[in-house]
Amino acid sequence: TQYSMDKIVALAKRRGLMFQSSEIYGGLNGFWDYGPLGVELKRNVRQAWWDDMITRHDELSIPASAPSTFDMVGVETSIIMHPQVWKVSGHFDLFCDKMVDCKESRKRYRLDHVKGRWIESVKRVQGEIPEGATPERVFITTMAEIDERNDDIEKKALQYFGLRSKDAGKLKFVSEIESLPPVEQFIDVIAPDARSKATLTTPRDFNLMFKTTLGALGTEDDAAFLRPETAQGMFVNFKNVCDSSRVKIPFGIAQIGKSFRNEITPRNFTFRSREFEQMEMEFFCHPKDSLAWYTYWRDRRYKWYTDLGISSDKLILREHTHEELAHYSVGTADVEYAFPFLPAGEYGELEGVAHRGDFDLRSHSQGKLRKEGNELVVEAGADGKPKYLGSGKDLSYFDDQSRERFLPHVIEPAAGCDRATLAFLCEAYHEDKQPDEKGEMQERVVLKLHPRLAPVKVAIFPLIKKDGMPEKAAEIYREFKRAGITAAYDQQAAIGRRYRRMDEIGTPYCITVDGDTMSADTVTIRNRDTLEQIRLPVKEVVDHIAKLVR
Ligand code: ATP
Repeated sequence: TQYSMDKIVALAKRRGLMFQSSEIYGGLNGFWDYGPLGVELKRNVRQAWWDDMITRHDELSIPASAPSTFDMVGVETSIIMHPQVWKVSGHFDLFCDKMVDCKESRKRYRLDHVKGRWIESVKRVQGEIPEGATPERVFITTMAEIDERNDDIEKKALQYFGLRSKDAGKLKFVSEIESLPPVEQFIDVIAPDARSKATLTTPRDFNLMFKTTLGALGTEDDAAFLRPETAQGMFVNFKNVCDSSRVKIPFGIAQIGKSFRNEITPRNFTFRSREFEQMEMEFFCHPKDSLAWYTYWRDRRYKWYTDLGISSDKLILREHTHEELAHYSVGTADVEYAFPFLPAGEYGELEGVAHRGDFDLRSHSQGKLRKEGNELVVEAGADGKPKYLGSGKDLSYFDDQSRERFLPHVIEPAAGCDRATLAFLCEAYHEDKQPDEKGEMQERVVLKLHPRLAPVKVAIFPLIKKDGMPEKAAEIYREFKRAGITAAYDQQAAIGRRYRRMDEIGTPYCITVDGDTMSADTVTIRNRDTLEQIRLPVKEVVDHIAKLVR
């Protein structure tokens, strides 16, 4: 069963997983806050990534298939970096989306810059047009605006085609297409008669980097940017890491941190936001081994999601087509998930795994590069000199075993922490019916989160609020806290209701202190998914649960 996004968003708000940022002031589009349970969930996602990439990198996740052993280290680099970084990396000139303005309403719309995607959506829309349909029958709903949600789209469509509201049935809505196709071209194909009503300017570039100024003067020379990706922090520290730690190629540098993009149409809950967290790793290897490492990381990263509970039915590994590849990339694959807000058969990107060649290290050494034929050359400005100078530092690597000096190639798995968190949440959401203590069937919402990701690992309940049970339960609760295991204590309401409260937030185990606890020093442990209950001596429960949630 696919549950609707509305249900998941409602649960997130009801139980304090995610809130709109600055909600009491009406919210701020594209920004989100994590509440008490959401912050635990997201911390666990981060931790699972860090464990897999750094702490236990050669123990978990198919190390056997790796071409050789390797090292992994972490860094934490600053959000604002030297402005030259973004000029050399290409973000200053190229990190743009296409945008059009509506001359009438003065509102802005994002045009999808990926041509393939546009053609795909138009084809789909065309496929759905019934024989002999009038232009008014079809209207694409992706005219999402910067500061508005999408709910008045019908009104806008009516206005757009000059129709009265009783004619709303004439409109056919194709919802949830991720980005807006160029409206004018779309209209030419689908609704040529409506063209004269279009009041949109021609598309123009819109840079997605947030700009700020350093110091008090605030001149153009003091302009700086909030990073739109964390990756550059690893590239510019490549030499520092080589010189200061004992890593030998092949090795990876990883970091988790905030990135910022002034998305024109933030939407779909936390999926596309303006402030988000990335989990990125740059893996430096010898050019001759780079394809083998690309395959390795692509497969390993896919497995990370399935190991943590995403069903392989809803997760795909999509290799980019030749046209989609960045000009420096030999191969890129996206890990994509069938989010509930997408139409059937469509997937949203969770992570991109890219073979980046030596593009990044070379640019940061020599200056901004561009493609000429099959070669990368330093891009020249109007005066024939390099348009943006690199650092001038030698970023090559000397292998003291083979006595060879070379510029490493890079494999980059770049994941979004918020998108992964959202995917785990969507995947976990289930509704079912379970008998309560009187045997009556009750509806329940249950988050079937992997125990490693669950915000609360265990809840401890006294069966009744007397006979020493609350004190005993509180003692067990404190023992869990001492062992560093996130636990909850609850003595309010009937036991069945307490179970359901915990099911709804994905707590995998509930422990009940009852009459037998007081006489025989044993407790029951209930499993969220199987509903099985087992009885264990009190002194064994912490170890027992610790093993299950690791
Ligand atoms: P998209 O095509 O969806 O805009 P992208 O290809 O630009 O994404 P990358 O630059 O490859 O994304 O960034 C790596 C990862 O960072 C993405 O796979 C995604 O998980 C995350 N990410 C990128 N942009 C956003 C955003 N606006 N909100 C939340 N996560 C994001």
